[in-house]
This record gives sequence, C-alpha cells and structure tokens, in this order.
Amino acid sequence: MSKKISNPIKKAGNIIIISAPSGAGKSSICEAVLAEGKKNISYSISYTTRSPRKGEGNGKNYYFISEDKFKQMIEEKKFAEWAKVHGNYYGTSKEVLNKALSVGKNIILEIDVQGGVSIKKQYPNNSCMIFIMTPDFKTLKKRLMARNKDRKETISMRMLNAKKELKYLPKYEYLVINKKLDEAVHAVKTIIKSLEYKIEKGRIYFA
Ligand code: 5GP
Repeated sequence: MSKKISNPIKKAGNIIIISAPSGAGKSSICEAVLAEGKKNISYSISYTTRSPRKGEGNGKNYYFISEDKFKQMIEEKKFAEWAKVHGNYYGTSKEVLNKALSVGKNIILEIDVQGGVSIKKQYPNNSCMIFIMTPDFKTLKKRLMARNKDRKETISMRMLNAKKELKYLPKYEYLVINKKLDEAVHAVKTIIKSLEYKIEKGRIYFA
C-alpha cells in the first residue's frame, strides 16, 4: 500500500529571533527583510522605557512607555519576555506574538540575548535564533561611532556589552556576519525561507 506524503511545506508561523550587539546592523537587516513586503512576515514592536532617539517614533520602532507602566505590564503578565538592557527595560508583547503564530505568520523579534534564550525556551519548536555580528570588534566600534547616535560613555558601555552578548553565541542556531549589508540580508532571508521545509515535531506527514 502506498503512503502519501502530506504537503511538507510548513504552514505554522515561526518566531525569528534576531539578536546582535548594538551597531552590528540588525535593524537595517530587519528593515530590508521586512521591506520585501511579504504578507507572511511581521515585526514585533517592543515596549521600552528608554527615551526615543532622533528619528524614532512611538509605535514605529518601539512603544515608549514609563517605568511605572512597564512594571504594571509585567504584573499583568503582558510580556512573553522582558529584560533590562543597557539600564532600560525592554519587553515583547505576548498578545502580538501569539496572534501572529495563530494565523501562521512569521514574526521577527529584534531582541537581546536574554530575551532570545527565554523565547526559545517557551517556543522550542517554532522559534529560530539568528545572531548577527560584524567581522570584528574594531568594525563594531567604528559603526557605533559613525552612526553618531550615542554619547562616548554609551559607546564604551555598548562595546563592553557586545563582549558579554557574544558569550551567548553557542545558544544560537545561526550566525550571520554583517560585512556587506546586502549579503547579510540575503543570508537572513535564506534562513527564514528554509524554515518552511523544517520537519515539525508532532506533525503527521504520512497517513
Ligand atoms: P536599542 O536601545 O539599541 O534599540 O536596543 C538595545 C537592546 O535591546 C538591543 O539588543 C535590542 O535588540 C534589545 N531589545 C529591543 N527590544 C527588546 C525586547 O522586547 N526584549 C529584549 N529582551 N530585548 C530587546
């Protein structure tokens, strides 16, 4: 008796966790991946207590909220994960995440390494962890200085944090070195595309 293979293309959505030290280019990469306009991919806008940088808008890059409001949201269990990064609070909305997954959408989470590990623990079968890094630390510092968004002390703190963040690399599944932006974007898109073909645990392929 022949057994038929059910459509192997994965229908459920994936959580695409993208982490990187500040300045490694993850925002540019995410923007480019999203700009392709694929209906099947969305972006999780995090909540944060940090002040907006020049050019950032509420509801565009982040939802900028007070520390009191953030703590209230923690109490109300509104976050799938939250962390204190560089002295500020950041959190991912549980509702947005679950909504995307329930309709089979991929969702990009641009979050730090603590958040990445926490999400992977909660969604082990439908999350994918991608780490972005510059070819070396020298390039990272150069990029941080060139973007001219942070004070000198902030840059030093971010460099120190980059070394700590890199220690989480073995917990990640993919590493993309951002030497040239278009190549890094292509690499991330390829990884996301490949998830459609991943074997889903518990799914019946042959009946
Ligand atoms: P920035 O202030 O430079 O936008 O972000 C600082 C760090 O916080 C980055 O590593 C960024 O990915 C991370 N981050 C942004 N949103 C979230 C979030 O919702 N959760 C966690 N854990 N980290 C976040």
